[in-house]
Amino acid sequence: MDRPDIPDARPKDSSMNRIGTALVISGPSGAGKSTVCAQVLTAWPDLRFSVSCTTRTPRPGEVNGKDYHFLARAEYDRLITAGEFLEHAEVHGNGYGTLRREVEPFLERGGDVLLDIDVQGARQVRQRIAGTPLAGHTVFTFLAPPSLAVLEQRLRGRGTDAEEVIRRRLENARCELAAWREYEYLVINDQVTDAAADLLAILRAGHCRSTSAMWDPLA
Ligand code: ADP
Ligand code: 5GP
Repeated sequence: MDRPDIPDARPKDSSMNRIGTALVISGPSGAGKSTVCAQVLTAWPDLRFSVSCTTRTPRPGEVNGKDYHFLARAEYDRLITAGEFLEHAEVHGNGYGTLRREVEPFLERGGDVLLDIDVQGARQVRQRIAGTPLAGHTVFTFLAPPSLAVLEQRLRGRGTDAEEVIRRRLENARCELAAWREYEYLVINDQVTDAAADLLAILRAGHCRSTSAMWDPLA
C-alpha cells in the first residue's frame, strides 16, 4: 500500500519566503489523515505537526506528546479558560484542541505547520484568521475516503476502536463529509502515496502564494 520513497519535496529555494504556511487538514475519522500526514511529514522534514490536546484515551502505540497531549478533562477545561487554545471542539464525545503555542511561534519564524483538526475546529480557525495576515498563508484541505463503504472498512481494519466507537464515528462521518465544499482543496485518499503527493503539491503551492511572501525585488 505505502511507498515510503517520496523524494524530499521542499522547495529548492525558499529564500524569499519568510512567513510559514499552515496546512489545515480535516476529514472523517478513518479517512487516512494520520497515515497520509505521516508520509507528508517524512517528505517535508521542516514541516511541524501541531500536536493537539485531547481528553480521549490513547490508542495502542500512540505516544503522549507526539501523537497528542493526552489530558484529563479538568486540565483540558483549564486550558480553555486560560485561552491557550487557537480552537477547540467536542468530537465523537471527547475534547480536542490546538494549543496556540503549537502553531503561532513557528509560523512567525517562517516554519510550516500541519494541523489535523475536525470541521468545527477548521471553521473556528477560518473565522479567527479572516481579515488578518494569517489568512494569506493558511491552506484548508479536506481529505476524504473514496466512499462511505471504504471508510467503514478502514475504521474496522484499523482495529483500534470498540464497535460502539466505530458506529459513532461512522454516524458523524456523514455530517463531516457534507462539509467538504468549505475547503479550498479536496484530496480523495485512494492510494496513500497519491494523496500524500497531492498534499505536498498543495503545501508547495501555499509556499508560492504571493500573500505568503515577503519580497521586495526593488530593494
Ligand atoms: P484517520 O487519521 O483519518 O482517522 P488513519 O490514518 O488512522 O485515519 O487510517 C485509518 C485506517 O485506514 C488505518 O488502518 C490505515 O492504515 C488505513 N488507510 C489509510 N489510508 C489508506 C489507503 N489509502 N488505503 C488503504 N488503507 C488506508
Ligand atoms: P482521533 O480520535 O481519531 O485521533 O481524532 C478524531 C477527530 O478529532 C479527527 O477528526 C481529528 O481531525 C480531530 N482532531 C484532532 N485534533 C484536533 C484538534 O486539535 N482540534 C479539533 N477541533 N479536532 C481535532
